Amino acid sequence: MSLLNKERLRTNLDEVIWNIEQARITVSEHHIVKLVTVAKYTEPENISTLYELGQRAFGENQVQQLKERMELLDALPLEWHMIGTLQKNKINTLIDLRPSLMQSLDGLELAMELNKKLAAKETTLSCLLQINAAGEESKSGVTPEEAFDIYQAIKESCPQIHLKGVMSIGAHTEERKTIQQSFECTQHIYESLQKEGATICSMGMSSDYQLAIKCGSNLVRVGSALFK
Ligand SMILES: *Cc1c(COP(=O)(O)O)cnc(C)c1O
Repeated sequence: MSLLNKERLRTNLDEVIWNIEQARITVSEHHIVKLVTVAKYTEPENISTLYELGQRAFGENQVQQLKERMELLDALPLEWHMIGTLQKNKINTLIDLRPSLMQSLDGLELAMELNKKLAAKETTLSCLLQINAAGEESKSGVTPEEAFDIYQAIKESCPQIHLKGVMSIGAHTEERKTIQQSFECTQHIYESLQKEGATICSMGMSSDYQLAIKCGSNLVRVGSALFK
C-alpha cells in the first residue's frame, strides 16, 4: 500500500471514468453507470484525495475496515458500501454504521438474521442480493436458479431489508466469453426482478468493468485500476 499523489490519482480516475463512458454509450446514452471506488487496498489518505477529485461512493469488503475508515473520514460527506461477505457476529456493527448500501446479502438465512437485528434496532438497510453466477465454490451468493425465489422470499419476510437489486462477481478466468456469460446470467435475473422493484445491477471490477457495462451493469466496483 502506498500514498499516491493527486495527479496520479486524477489520471487513473479520469481513465476509469472515460472507459465507463465509452462502454455505457454503446448500451444507450440514457444508460447511467455509478462508480463505487473500492478502497480496500489503499491508504485512507487516497480516499480523501479521490473525494477532492469528485468521487463520492466508496466500498469496503470488511466490516472492521469499513468502521475504521468511516470514523476516520467522518468529516467528509461520503457514501459507503459494504461489498464483502458479512459474518453473523458482525451484523450489529454493520447496522450501527448505517452504510448506504449492503451489496453482499448472500442468502435467505443471513437475510433473516439481519432482518431480526434491524427490527430490534428499529431501523432498515438497503441491500443487494449477491448471485454466484459463475458457480464458483470460492464465491458467496445464491445460485442463479434460486435467485428469483429467494429475492421474493426476502421481500416478503424481511420488511426491514430494502432490496434494491443484485450484485455479482464475474467468472474468475481469462476467458472473456466465460466472463461475459456470467454477466449475462446475472443481467437476465436482474431484468426479471425489475418488476419486483430492482433498480441496481452491480457487476464489474478493474479487469472487466467495461464488459460488465456492455452486459447491462449500472454499478461498477473498481479498486486496483485506480490505485496503480
Ligand atoms: C476487491 C473487490 C472489488 C474491486 O476489485 P478490483 O479488481 O481491485 O477492482 C470489487 N468487488 C468486490 C466484491 C471486491 O471484493
